[in-house]
Amino acid sequence: MTDKIIKVLAHNGKIAITCINSSNLVEEARKIHDLSPVTTAAFGRLLTIAAIMGNEMKNKKDKLTIQIKGNGPIGTMLVTANNIPKVKGYVAEPHVDLPLNEFGKLDVGTAVGYEGYINVIKDIGLKEPYIGISPLVSGEIAEDFANYFVNSEQRQSAVALGVLVDKNGVKSAGGYLITPMPDATEEEIGKVEQAIFKAGAMSKMLDSNMTLEEIAKKVTGDENIEILEDNIVPEYKCDCSKEHMKDALVSIGKKDLEEILKEDGKLEAMCHFCNKKYIFTKEELEEMIANIDK
Ligand SMILES: [Zn+2]
Repeated sequence: MTDKIIKVLAHNGKIAITCINSSNLVEEARKIHDLSPVTTAAFGRLLTIAAIMGNEMKNKKDKLTIQIKGNGPIGTMLVTANNIPKVKGYVAEPHVDLPLNEFGKLDVGTAVGYEGYINVIKDIGLKEPYIGISPLVSGEIAEDFANYFVNSEQRQSAVALGVLVDKNGVKSAGGYLITPMPDATEEEIGKVEQAIFKAGAMSKMLDSNMTLEEIAKKVTGDENIEILEDNIVPEYKCDCSKEHMKDALVSIGKKDLEEILKEDGKLEAMCHFCNKKYIFTKEELEEMIANIDK
């Protein structure tokens, strides 16, 4: 199954739901960053919600950046997304290994940490970017984002994120975000809450080959959903280039570049998002330094 996002309305337009299958996207991130199973689960959940939130932005140029800084061994995780959505990111400690938790599951909460915060920056072309900060509640990511939506965006949402990992890598990954419209009744919200409870884990539903449409019906408890969009394809993709890298290097300053030139005679720089290596020769370094004067 290919990765996809669908947007759906349930209960006569009163409940909005976005469902995502991000299995390939998370597997791509696992391979690039050589992630351990628990880090795949933690980072995969973050990439999945970033794809949903990135896609909510209106314009192609809008940029979403999410940083999670927890007190667990994974350290800082950072992801960026645009509205297509193309997502990318990196993890401070990709090889964290922990015993399974009391439920026999990957212990994402301990790996991320129970204390810390989520920092969301949305650059949507306004003078100042939107910045939202919210504390972590469990480090399990979905709960932390549900709390973020209430705290920072005044949205009472249900968030589910799941990544199933086996010895070959990512078996399935995905999630959903359910937001009641302002005119949704208590009864309609109650029906959805019950349906979510009955549906079980997102990664299991995907792993049993349910389509996103079937999942949307199941977690809203509505057979008559209205599909608004069903052909959005999320992707893990880095847009780095030698040109971008050069701009970043110029910003470290003339003096430091001159020192590197003198000591090493060349410069190797690696992209944090895709681990691609860029080599700048002596001549290229000299040209960069000369141009800083201009
Ligand atoms: Zn890159």
